[in-house]
Amino acid sequence: MLTAKEIRESYKDFFRSKGHQIVPSAPMVIKDDPTLMFTNAGMNQFKDIILGNVAAKHRRVADSQKCLRVSGKHNDLEEVGMDTYHHTMFEMLGNWSFGDYFKQEAIDWAWEYLVDVLKLNPDVLYATVFEGSPAEGLSRDDEAASIWAKHLPESHIINGNKHDNFWEMGDTGPCGPCSEIHIDLRSPEERAAVPGRDLVNHDHPQVIEIWNLVFMQYNRKVDGSLEPLPAKVIDTGMGFERLCMALQGKKSNYDTDVFTPLINKIGELAGKKYGEDAKVDVAMRVIADHVRTIAFSIADSQLPGNAKAGYVIRRILRRAVRYAYTFLDQKQAFMYRLVDTLIDSMGEAYPELPKQRDLIMKVIKEEEDAFLRTLENGIRLLDSAIASAKKEDKNEISGKEAFILYDTYGFPLDLTELILKENGMTLDQAEFDSEMAAQKARARNAAAVETGDWVVVRDGEQEFVGYDMTKTPTRILRYRKVK
Ligand code: ATP
Ligand code: MG
Ligand code: MG
Ligand code: MG
Repeated sequence: MLTAKEIRESYKDFFRSKGHQIVPSAPMVIKDDPTLMFTNAGMNQFKDIILGNVAAKHRRVADSQKCLRVSGKHNDLEEVGMDTYHHTMFEMLGNWSFGDYFKQEAIDWAWEYLVDVLKLNPDVLYATVFEGSPAEGLSRDDEAASIWAKHLPESHIINGNKHDNFWEMGDTGPCGPCSEIHIDLRSPEERAAVPGRDLVNHDHPQVIEIWNLVFMQYNRKVDGSLEPLPAKVIDTGMGFERLCMALQGKKSNYDTDVFTPLINKIGELAGKKYGEDAKVDVAMRVIADHVRTIAFSIADSQLPGNAKAGYVIRRILRRAVRYAYTFLDQKQAFMYRLVDTLIDSMGEAYPELPKQRDLIMKVIKEEEDAFLRTLENGIRLLDSAIASAKKEDKNEISGKEAFILYDTYGFPLDLTELILKENGMTLDQAEFDSEMAAQKARARNAAAVETGDWVVVRDGEQEFVGYDMTKTPTRILRYRKVK
C-alpha cells in the first residue's frame, strides 16, 4: 500500500516526467489580495498568469498546494467532521498548462496517472462533461467527451450542468468547461444494486469527486459575451486526502495515514476509541481537521486574532476546543499536544511546520487556555437560555444572549449557532446584529481617543510580541511593526 508521502511524491514525479516544473505550495494565508484571505485552490497563485498580467516562467507546472475552504465562495466548514471527505485545510494536487497543452493531454495524462501508474480500477471511475448552455450559445463539450471515450464506456461519461461543469473566475475573465473525475468506492454488491453513475454529484460519501480538470478556453467580456482565449489554460485540482482514501482502500479520509496518527493521538490523550460513538467520532474528526488548519496558519504567520483572517482562525480553534470539551471531556488545553504528531507526518513536505514548532505550540496552548477560562461559564449560560426558551415553547434564543456569549465569553457566533443546532434551535439574528452594531459604534468612539505604540499590521511586516488581556477574558494578540 502506498503511503500518503509516496502518493504525494508520485504525483510530482509523474508530472515531472511529462515536462512540468514542480513548484512549491504558495502560502495558505494570502497577504496582498483584498478579494481572498486564504488560498482555496491550486490556481490562486497563478491568477496573474492566467489573466495575462504576467508572463509564465514555465508553461507546464505542477504542485501540491495547501488550501483552506472556510470563507467566501468555498466554505466547507459545516461539512467538516460531519462527513468524511471535506476538510477545512486540505492539499490540492494540480497541474497547469499556460498556453501549452490542452484537453487531449490533460485528460490522457490524468487517466494514465490514475489507472496505469496508481492502478486504480477503471471500472469504478466516471467522468463528467459540460452539457452545454444553449442560452449562451455554448454547446456540449463533445471534444472532452470524445477524448474520454477512448478510456471509458459511454455509460461512465456523464453530462453535467453549468454549476458543476463550467468554471469562471469571476463575472469577467478566463472561463471554460471542466471535466470531473469521480470514483465509486462502494463494495461490488452495492455497485451492482445501484449504478455509480446515479450517485455521481449526489454527496454520497463513497461516490466522490476526486479530480477537477478545467479547460479555460474563453474570455468573458464585460458585456457578458464570450470570445476565444488566445492562450488556453489547463488548470487541474485533485483532492490529495481523497486520493489517499481511494488508494489505501478506505471508506473515509480519516482512515488514511494522513489522519490516523492524529486520530490515534487524540484517542490516546482523551482515553477514547475512534469508531465506538458517533458523537465522539465527529469530535475526533473535527479536532484532527482543525489542528491542521490552525498549525498551518500559524506557520504562515497568521496568528489567531480579533479581525479578518485572524478571527477566522480563532473561530476554528474555539470550535475545536468546544468539541474537545463537550465530547471528549477535555477541560485542559489539549490540542497543542497534537502538534508533534502533525509534524511527524507532514513536516517533511512542509518544513515551515517543524521550523516553527515552538511558536505553533505556544500560540495554540495560549489560545486554548484563554478560551477554556470562559467556555464553561458560556456553556452554562447557553444551556440555561436554551432551557428557558424550550420552557416557553420557543426554538430561538434572543440575539442579546448570543451577543453576551460573543462579547463576554468569546463564543464566535457560528459556535453558538452550532450548539443551538445540536439542540434543534436558532437565534434572533437581527437582534444580534443590532447589538453588534451598537458595540462597534462604542468601539469607534473609544478608538478615537486611544493612542498607543502597538498597531495591528499586515502579515509579513509583523513581529509577534506577546499577549494582552482586554476587559473581557479574551486575549488579544499584539504586534509591533518591524522596520
Ligand atoms: P466537492 O464538490 O466535493 O465539494 P469541489 O467541486 O468543491 O468538491 P473543486 O473546487 O473542484 O472541488 O476542487 C478540486 C478538488 O479538490 C475536488 O475534486 C476535491 O477532490 C478536492 N476538494 C475540494 N474541496 C475539498 C475539501 N473541502 N476537502 C478536501 N478536498 C476537497
Ligand atoms: Mg465544494
Ligand atoms: Mg464538486
Ligand atoms: Mg469540483
